[in-house]
Amino acid sequence: MKKSVYLIAILYSGIIFSQPPSSVNSDATKYAETITVADLKEDLTILASDALEGRETGKRGQKMAAAYIKTHFEELGLVGPVKGTGSPYYQNVPLKVVKPGEIYLMINGVRLNNIDEVLYSGQGNTNGEVPTEVVFMGEGSEADFEKNEVKGKSILIYNTDRNGRVLASKLAKEQGVQMIFSVRGSSDEEFKVFQTNFGNYFSSGTMKLDKDERKEVGMFYLSPSVAAGMLNTSFDKIEKAIDAAKNGEKNPYKKLKSEKIGYQLDFENKKIVSENVLGFLEGTDLKEEVLVLTSHYDHVGIKNGEIYNGADDDGSGTVAVMDIAEAFVKAKEDGKGPRRSILFMTVTAEEKGLLGSEYYADNPIFPLENTVANLNIDMIGRIDDRELKSENYVSLVGSDKLSTELHAISEKANSTYTNLFLDYTYNDEGHPERIYYRSDHWNFAKNGIPVIFYTTGSHPDYHKPTDTVEKIEFELMTARAKLVFYTAWEIVNRDGRLIVDKK
Ligand SMILES: [Zn+2]
Repeated sequence: MKKSVYLIAILYSGIIFSQPPSSVNSDATKYAETITVADLKEDLTILASDALEGRETGKRGQKMAAAYIKTHFEELGLVGPVKGTGSPYYQNVPLKVVKPGEIYLMINGVRLNNIDEVLYSGQGNTNGEVPTEVVFMGEGSEADFEKNEVKGKSILIYNTDRNGRVLASKLAKEQGVQMIFSVRGSSDEEFKVFQTNFGNYFSSGTMKLDKDERKEVGMFYLSPSVAAGMLNTSFDKIEKAIDAAKNGEKNPYKKLKSEKIGYQLDFENKKIVSENVLGFLEGTDLKEEVLVLTSHYDHVGIKNGEIYNGADDDGSGTVAVMDIAEAFVKAKEDGKGPRRSILFMTVTAEEKGLLGSEYYADNPIFPLENTVANLNIDMIGRIDDRELKSENYVSLVGSDKLSTELHAISEKANSTYTNLFLDYTYNDEGHPERIYYRSDHWNFAKNGIPVIFYTTGSHPDYHKPTDTVEKIEFELMTARAKLVFYTAWEIVNRDGRLIVDKK
């Protein structure tokens, strides 16, 4: 460094030290300092220990983690806000594990079994075999649906475009179609690849919220030759008919009549209950308005005898919420707010498809109209494998999507206090990972509640048994947790409620 620059640097830093920027709130700083490496480490060492067996939803380890978080909330003096039976700190989330049983398709008395020969995606039980009338519908376009009356019937489509298939499903639902048969792949070899990639997914059980099933129309995926067999023709003729329809020919599907078709659906449902863990800190003069801080405490459990500790995913976010809660409690004990109320909520079943947060959004303990924002944390303990400007970073998603003010508050909290490099890569609508729609905050955002999602992104230990506590960067993680704290502090203590000015 050149001498003159060096002098200026000293002068400049002198100014900074002698005159702190007026925007620094010394109360906020005081309580932020209670979020420490030592506290985060202590809690995470327990949550990510082998004793908690990977915290899989519905399993013993998840229940132990819930009890640990609940005890922490209780000891802090947070209120358990859930009424009814059981612990007021637990919101019971009713779930079911749905496993496919004997499912098959029948063409002219020839049976084609699920997984081996066809793939069924959907739910339902037919209680034995049911017959169905199948109408060939080409690509299943809007025009195809206009030309055919298919209420109560099944349809067979061949569309190579994903969006086209999604549209066909939507139209089928609107028209009251019984079942969709959809050709996958332009050859049987291509279908085989699809079968290999997804067979496991279709055959293993999936967890869902135990509520009325959304009445989606089920779908059998077929190979080209099975589809051709269904119409007693060749696949070549099917393709030609679709081309003819595209070229304006009037009735090219007329000759493609279906054989005698039947099928059986059979799913076994096992009901389980899991818990969202809630701790509530009542505000002062604006207590009707609530900020919700979330993270998911479940992880993927034990696979092939190996424990998936989930230290970063999402032990890191969970202990951050626990210690941010502690900071706000200490502030309140000293008469320093919060003016708005704060709900600290660690949710369950995120790894099963954001189910705990979905259940909360469907059954909120505090009205969603009064919920001013959601700050959600998932994986803030590592440095990911991207090349970023600084290791001292955090990636933010959603801050500018619904509220210009929220984004400004977040930026200012960082520039005033934490000085992290704020990365917005995942916030881009065009980003392939679409993270805005893929973590618990989405269940708030979809209800028009402004959110910020905090993450440091993926790394080679993501969803591996090696996501362990020794690999956590506690200094960095503490700084990231402090940014969430400062942002929350401003949201709950400012005069005005956050304005939602975007759609
Ligand atoms: Zn996660």
